[in-house]
Amino acid sequence: MNYENILKEIYEEIQPYLEQGHLPDYIPALKNVKADDFAMSLITLDGQEHHIGCCDKKFSIQSISKLFSFTIALDKYKKELYKRVGHEPSGNPFNSLVQLEYEKGIPRNPFINAGAIVTTDSLVSIYKEKTFETILEFIKNSSTCQDLEINEEIYESELAHGFRNFALINMMKSFNNIDNDIDLVIQSYFKQCSIMMNTKQLAKSILFLANHGINPLTNEQVITVSQAKRINSLMLTCGHYDASGDFAFKVGLPGKSGVGGGIIALIPQKMALCVYSPKLNKQGNSLVGTKALELFTTKTGLSIF
Ligand code: GLU
Repeated sequence: MNYENILKEIYEEIQPYLEQGHLPDYIPALKNVKADDFAMSLITLDGQEHHIGCCDKKFSIQSISKLFSFTIALDKYKKELYKRVGHEPSGNPFNSLVQLEYEKGIPRNPFINAGAIVTTDSLVSIYKEKTFETILEFIKNSSTCQDLEINEEIYESELAHGFRNFALINMMKSFNNIDNDIDLVIQSYFKQCSIMMNTKQLAKSILFLANHGINPLTNEQVITVSQAKRINSLMLTCGHYDASGDFAFKVGLPGKSGVGGGIIALIPQKMALCVYSPKLNKQGNSLVGTKALELFTTKTGLSIF
């Protein structure tokens, strides 16, 4: 398969779509980006790399970070974790309060905001003030990239405007599903969202999920085969909020998006992919990123189906 040519074709074909979508406005600092940027990276398990566009430009990983905090929490708590956060698609927006109220503070899955806040809380119970550093260290090890840090401006911006996330954590606290100090948990959550990475680094960071839990870059067994299966299944069913069904239908791969404009996706036993384009569709997923991944699986025939 000539991946180099396929990425070039995708780059041409997505150009008209760069007009569409909108930048997120509820975190003001996320608007300080070049709206028509595009990057795509592909890394195979045997080490082939192909990239196109601004693949060295770092962006805020936002909800892609939920994948890593959930991986650490699942490894620590095993099935116990599911007492506090479910594994069903929500069918609701990523920051919805409604479902949480009538489901008594137990979020549907770890990839909506409420679910990620609960997983972060479970990590705060173990790592206390070092929770964010633990998550960052995990991402550094998975990606084998040591030069990762947060964007302070994005972190401060979300802290100042994260009214819905504060509402979510307070509601869950009222249902006794948050064990730790609200400020410590929410700060750790916002920090993990503000980590800056490029598509090359993000693609590398999920190779272990495409490889039965073993990181091919370090040969380390990061999680078990079964845990990797569960996490990938959750990405397929819940990785794109209320557009998860649409993403599975069009792209046919497990993936996780973030409102910073990134999407990671993987083909089990083959490769990891990452796309970046900051304008979002109405469900909060990168519009052009989704299109690029759809073109990729259509052109290559490589999907999980
Ligand atoms: N930090 C964002 C929030 O909590 C993450 C949302 C996302 O990337 O989808 O609202």
